[in-house]
Amino acid sequence: MHLKPPSSPKFALALIIVFAAIISLSAQQKPECTVRVTLLQVNDVYQFAPVDNGKRGGLARVLTLKKAIQKESPNTIFLLSGDTISPSVESITYKGAQMIDAWNILGLDYSTFGNHEFDFGPDVLRQRMKESKFKWVAANVIDKKTGKPFGDAPAYVVREFDGVKVGLFGLTLEETKVTSRPGPDVEFLNPCNTAKRMVKEIHAQGIKTVIALTHLSMSEDKEVARCADVDAIIGGHEHSLLESVSGGAPIFKMTADARELGQIDLNISKTTGAVESIDWKIIPVTNDTPDDPEFATLNQKYGALLKELSRVVGRSSVDLEARSAVGRNRETNVGDFIADAFRAATRSDVGLMNGGSIRADELIGAGTLTRRDVLSILPFKNRVVKLEMTGALLRQVLEHGVARSAEDAEPGRFPQVSGVRFTFDGRRPAGSRITELTVNGQPLDDKKTYTLATSDYLAIDYGDGYDMLKSARILIPRERAQLDSDVVQAAIVARKTIAPKTDGRIKRLDQNQKPRTECN
Ligand SMILES: [Zn+2]
Repeated sequence: MHLKPPSSPKFALALIIVFAAIISLSAQQKPECTVRVTLLQVNDVYQFAPVDNGKRGGLARVLTLKKAIQKESPNTIFLLSGDTISPSVESITYKGAQMIDAWNILGLDYSTFGNHEFDFGPDVLRQRMKESKFKWVAANVIDKKTGKPFGDAPAYVVREFDGVKVGLFGLTLEETKVTSRPGPDVEFLNPCNTAKRMVKEIHAQGIKTVIALTHLSMSEDKEVARCADVDAIIGGHEHSLLESVSGGAPIFKMTADARELGQIDLNISKTTGAVESIDWKIIPVTNDTPDDPEFATLNQKYGALLKELSRVVGRSSVDLEARSAVGRNRETNVGDFIADAFRAATRSDVGLMNGGSIRADELIGAGTLTRRDVLSILPFKNRVVKLEMTGALLRQVLEHGVARSAEDAEPGRFPQVSGVRFTFDGRRPAGSRITELTVNGQPLDDKKTYTLATSDYLAIDYGDGYDMLKSARILIPRERAQLDSDVVQAAIVARKTIAPKTDGRIKRLDQNQKPRTECN
């Protein structure tokens, strides 16, 4: 732009005054030009009580933090990026209702579906949605019967603060279809295509600021950020603290179980309605933050269970390997300990537990062991039965246990054993993979009779395809059998401190394959 030279000094002075006035006016107006909208984020929260021996997490502390932030930043939206109904020790009893109670007290605003929301089937999730005082948002989870989002959840919501509007839509992992139990009537649409459609629809209403609330893998989140014009992605699923940028949009994921609270401040222009800048901080949730007293009612309601779960039953001086990807592929110290406990408790020759029934899916750090730890490893209430069988059948049982080891990444049938030592080679045909096999130090004798302690899931229900156990004789039936968790807990209590370590009882000759990434 060309300005004509001022015609007189008087005019020049007037011009300077006008400019100065404009500059000072804009300086004064600047703070009022943007509206700060604060997104508070947690994701993958499976229990409301603190974790890590009380040091981290705890939703009563999150409520204290939330109230403090709201005082300072009143335009706040509190978000959960999915995975809360399952899995947990509490959910064995309450099927996630205890978490909905907690979120209702916390004043959660919106959640999207995580893959684990469908673990108890679609009807239980519908019930949980009815109990929720907050809204579930889901753009790509569709009920085939209605053609609309599952449970009549809105695909997106719009919030208005001081004249600026924020649109927010939900996305869930497509693989939920096969990794959880949504049933035949629920389908999961492609996240990228859905995000494009959502942004278009929200923009069409003149809303410039769009947030995706997602439960996807980081690579999918990055793809969504590249293919759709979102301003930020509030995500989850990985269980670890992740901060990334893709397609110009930041992506946030907090560590599981509310170990952090994410505070993401969107500075939105009042004139354009678009995000001008974003500030954020990751707030650790620790025992330095007091519980909000409002939460006490929940602790009362579930107090008896929480007290029982936090009861210390012993100690481990070593880390306990309870990760699924490991326990379904090779001998682990937890697998050995369980199979040893089964064998000892029933005075059997051999103990066997399928890797798929050993849960927790984490490396449990050395230290105190609580009732919660035991139940997180053995949540299924299986019973430890005793069978009698020929050596030939026992060999068949073990062959079955390794028959999918080369074919599947995490075969649930994989046998964790006691009293036997064996070597197998996944490159050999299924059914003849075991190359060496001894029982209590002696080569297995096909004609001899052996006793086996195992779970009723395998022995009575023939779970994981152990049908051959039909021809074994039952010595301790289900009706007289102890719970697996009680057997293992008793073994811990008896020793006070345990230090299980693998002793090479299972040798695998084809160990080149690496375990698949864990699924959260
Ligand atoms: Zn997940």
